[in-house]
Amino acid sequence: MHKPPGFPTELPASLVVDPARVRQLNDRPLRSGDYVLYWMQQSQRAADNHALTYGIEAANLCRLPLLVVFGLTMHYPEANRRHFSFMLEGLRETSTRLAQQGIRLAMVHGHPPEVALKAGRKAALVICDRGYLRHQKQWRTAVAGEAQCPVVEIESDAVVPVDVASAKAEYAARTIRPKIKRLLPAFLKPLKTVRLQRPSLELPLRGMAMNEIDALLQSLPMQTDVPPAGRFYRGGAGEAMARLRRFIEQTLPRYAASHNQPQTDDVSHMSPYLHFGQISPLRIALEISQTQSTPELQASVDAYLEQLLIRRELAINFVHHTPDYDSYSCIPDWARQTLDAHRTDRREHLYGRDALESAGTHDAYWNAAMMEMRITGFMHTYMRMYWGKKILEWSPSPEQAFETLLALNNRYFIDGRDPNSYAGAAWIFGTHDRPWKERPIFGKVRYMAASGLERKCDIAAYVNLRAIPQ
Ligand SMILES: Cc1cc2nc3c(=O)[nH]c(=O)nc-3n(C[C@H](O)[C@H](O)[C@H](O)COP(=O)(O)OP(=O)(O)OC[C@H]3O[C@@H](n4cnc5c(N)ncnc54)[C@H](O)[C@@H]3O)c2cc1C
Repeated sequence: MHKPPGFPTELPASLVVDPARVRQLNDRPLRSGDYVLYWMQQSQRAADNHALTYGIEAANLCRLPLLVVFGLTMHYPEANRRHFSFMLEGLRETSTRLAQQGIRLAMVHGHPPEVALKAGRKAALVICDRGYLRHQKQWRTAVAGEAQCPVVEIESDAVVPVDVASAKAEYAARTIRPKIKRLLPAFLKPLKTVRLQRPSLELPLRGMAMNEIDALLQSLPMQTDVPPAGRFYRGGAGEAMARLRRFIEQTLPRYAASHNQPQTDDVSHMSPYLHFGQISPLRIALEISQTQSTPELQASVDAYLEQLLIRRELAINFVHHTPDYDSYSCIPDWARQTLDAHRTDRREHLYGRDALESAGTHDAYWNAAMMEMRITGFMHTYMRMYWGKKILEWSPSPEQAFETLLALNNRYFIDGRDPNSYAGAAWIFGTHDRPWKERPIFGKVRYMAASGLERKCDIAAYVNLRAIPQ
């Protein structure tokens, strides 16, 4: 393989990516190759991507081109047409933006780790980004175990790297907050841009043409699948930035006062874009914290950063340190014991998955939320809480409630299958929360009532607004 003069003997140290974001996953020595490979999976963007930047630096030092490869499988866990169409809109844009930097993004059909290994055969070095879910970790371990060159993982989808933030599963937001706040000055810093010296656009790796991708999408089962929600949420980094800018200009000042009012929709809608790595949490945090601040606006900036930096990174901490994050067994002991003690309590309403999925309950507020989720792929946080609490109340057992909740969450939300999905589901059952006054079915787990919605927000306005034509 091609080994240019001056080829480094050791893995290059980055000049711009903090070493705390870098982890070599195997101990293979650097070798000669045709290119440096970035196997893109979690951080699907061309901007503010530490893995990409590290790849560019490494390629420049090795005097090689940087090739980016994305493995596209129709068997991705729980993925459906809604998720694929949003993701592919983003990847098309990422491909164009990378090409403008002289970098080829090859979309290759196949199981992602196999695609990475195959493309890695001619690589001097393989770089991957970091994901926190079980299959994402397994795929990276498999690639690191089999690749004949170094495999380096770069963390770009958390502002504070997960292992630096905490070495254990945190009990609640209040326990992780001081740790993250202490570390923010070190990590809340813009990522410098590095230009690639040797373009990869002409590299002879066969990638899929758009019509092949469309044909693959057509192979998904049409009748039983979930339709795209592009009418409401279009994928892509450009759309993410445009939404963020609009949010900062028009809505952020009201965020502290009204982000828990579902009828106002005064939230950023960043979660679908964050989930697919189309925008970096670092970029959002920087844009929000650089907002010209008045005392009134500062309260909103703080409230927003609490969600983005504390709640979101608590969810990452949760899935990273909780091996059974997607099973009922993940909830805290106190919550399991109290729910168990109330498992035979009489349930006034009992609904199976079909009745729930078709929004056919007696509760108009809940049905409106379910319809919003089914049609648009999104739901306001406050309604997600109510929606989840009612599934617990109306299911024959807490175990069945957990399973139904996660299945619906991951099927309909564009941002489903995210660390936030699992932490959000577990919160319904007591995770990251404390015991409350004991009551039927819920025991000491926090309860939410329809009367609470009526008291705390204009729920009738929410129902009217969410009467979306299908
Ligand atoms: C039962 C339940 C299920 C949930 N399922 C998901 C899911 O599948 N995917 C998902 O991304 N989020 C989920 N959440 C968390 C939260 O509701 C969404 O992240 C939020 O609604 C996204 O909207 P936004 O981007 O407009 O939020 P904003 O209010 O604008 O907040 C900005 C960002 O902060 C983070 N954030 C906000 N609220 C929370 C929270 N409660 N927990 C963790 N991070 C938060 C998100 O990254 C969000 O994009 C769930 C919450 C619950 C209670």
